[in-house]
Amino acid sequence: MGFPKTRDDDPAPDLRPRPGRRAVLTRALGLTAVAGLGTVAAIGAAAEPAAAKDAKLTANQADWRFCTKCYGMFFRGYPTDGACPSGGGHDSAGYNFNLPHDIPETPTAQHNWRFCTKCYGMFFWGYPDNGRCPAGNAHAAAGYDFVLPHDIPDPPGSQRNWRFCPKCYGLYFYGYPTNGRCPAGNAHSVAGYDFVLPHL
Ligand SMILES: [Zn+2]
Ligand SMILES: [Zn+2]
Ligand SMILES: [Zn+2]
Repeated sequence: MGFPKTRDDDPAPDLRPRPGRRAVLTRALGLTAVAGLGTVAAIGAAAEPAAAKDAKLTANQADWRFCTKCYGMFFRGYPTDGACPSGGGHDSAGYNFNLPHDIPETPTAQHNWRFCTKCYGMFFWGYPDNGRCPAGNAHAAAGYDFVLPHDIPDPPGSQRNWRFCPKCYGLYFYGYPTNGRCPAGNAHSVAGYDFVLPHL
């Protein structure tokens, strides 16, 4: 099941998360990582030889983490950790997710996933409204357009069971018997794709 509507216009201000505790530029086949790069503009060169077609650069941002209190995905690359629906800032644990952004959408990768400047969470920006933010009212998008893989086999170095919550529009981990804390009340609900997210 997908989402009924996406929007392709991007009125967001040119405001991106600063380079985090770590930002990497990953070459799809080359395993090259460069520290200290915040933004990347790299989708294959026009004149590349046919044999190099699959070796296009992809841009990822690390420092996306699981929150043990709300089960949400949040960006830990700032000195503070946003606003958690369970109170205070988010608390990170587990994998350091390294999420692709600003690449073409495919049948198994959905775009319109954005950073919220108010709660630091990842939320789906593809609806006319923007869900419910733990910092009050709706989420506010900024920065990269994340393109998240879904409904694919989970290779080593990735984790499935990341889902969309139709109550708050957040991305959260659905792999536990309970579903964390939703800013719209009680636990998150589940809908849509099964996201399979790469981590370091
Ligand atoms: Zn949290
Ligand atoms: Zn928010
Ligand atoms: Zn929720």
